[in-house]
Amino acid sequence: MAKKRAARVLTVTAAYSLTPNMRRVTLFGEDLASFPEQAEGAYFKLVFPSDNPDRPTLRTYTISQYRRDTHEIDVDFMLHNSADGTVEGVAVSWAMRASAGDIMPIFGPGLATLINRDADAFVLAADMTALPALAANFASLPATATGHVVVEIISDEDRQILNVPDGVQVHWVVNPYPGSDESPLYHAIKTLDWPKGQVAVWCACEFKTMKKCRHYFSHVRQVSKSHLYISSYWKKGLHEELHKIAKQEDVE
Ligand SMILES: Cc1cc2nc3c(=O)[nH]c(=O)nc-3n(C[C@H](O)[C@H](O)[C@H](O)COP(=O)(O)OP(=O)(O)OC[C@H]3O[C@@H](n4cnc5c(N)ncnc54)[C@H](O)[C@@H]3O)c2cc1C
Repeated sequence: MAKKRAARVLTVTAAYSLTPNMRRVTLFGEDLASFPEQAEGAYFKLVFPSDNPDRPTLRTYTISQYRRDTHEIDVDFMLHNSADGTVEGVAVSWAMRASAGDIMPIFGPGLATLINRDADAFVLAADMTALPALAANFASLPATATGHVVVEIISDEDRQILNVPDGVQVHWVVNPYPGSDESPLYHAIKTLDWPKGQVAVWCACEFKTMKKCRHYFSHVRQVSKSHLYISSYWKKGLHEELHKIAKQEDVE
């Protein structure tokens, strides 16, 4: 039987706001020296205690930056609140309070899912939860790449500097109500000047918006499976365990 890998136990060395609704937490551990070189953009699991010690609460996040020489990773947390402003969610509550010296066990990383580079042009889209993975994706594009990057943010002040290739246009979409039925990210994608030739797409966002975008990319723009990566990173109204079930049902 395959041996279960033990968690790496990391320590917070810094926590600060990148933008009003994005908080960066830096985690350190000697163990990080054994992370794969290309860890940026890969997902991993944060491990939180639960009532059942045999079944901790896991939350999925992305390695935003990896510094092998100093054994550190940066994790960027989108700060989500419920409509009445109260903070829900074990991960986001932890991130808001995190400070130097806090301990965080982790599992992973998994593999980074990168856009198919064998294309004439590229369309990448994400909300703030997928911004770290999106950044790793456009870092993998050739300098001559052309296309569009569409990013949904909560407020104008949540814009970040994105080092995209010169031929790639960046479109910011402000949505103060993440997961709202209007799906502004989807509507922004529909208004893009769609590139000619073989287009590769990478898109990750809220579940309902993901489903609308998937229909558009597959059926309206006829993007083939080989050139389409699309995933939901969260689902409005469901915590991560229930979102995972909804995802499995969707696949089936
Ligand atoms: C592969 C992958 C990589 C990910 N990487 C990142 C990352 O780098 N940064 C990041 O911020 N997120 C990332 N996410 C999303 C993150 O895992 C979820 O948002 C997760 O639900 C947050 O956990 P929580 O404990 O804060 O909230 P949960 O306990 O899971 O949920 C509590 C409540 O908050 C709501 N909620 C959860 N997320 C959001 C949100 N973003 N906006 C509004 N309401 C929300 C839920 O619907 C639920 O009602 C990633 C997800 C996946 C699948």
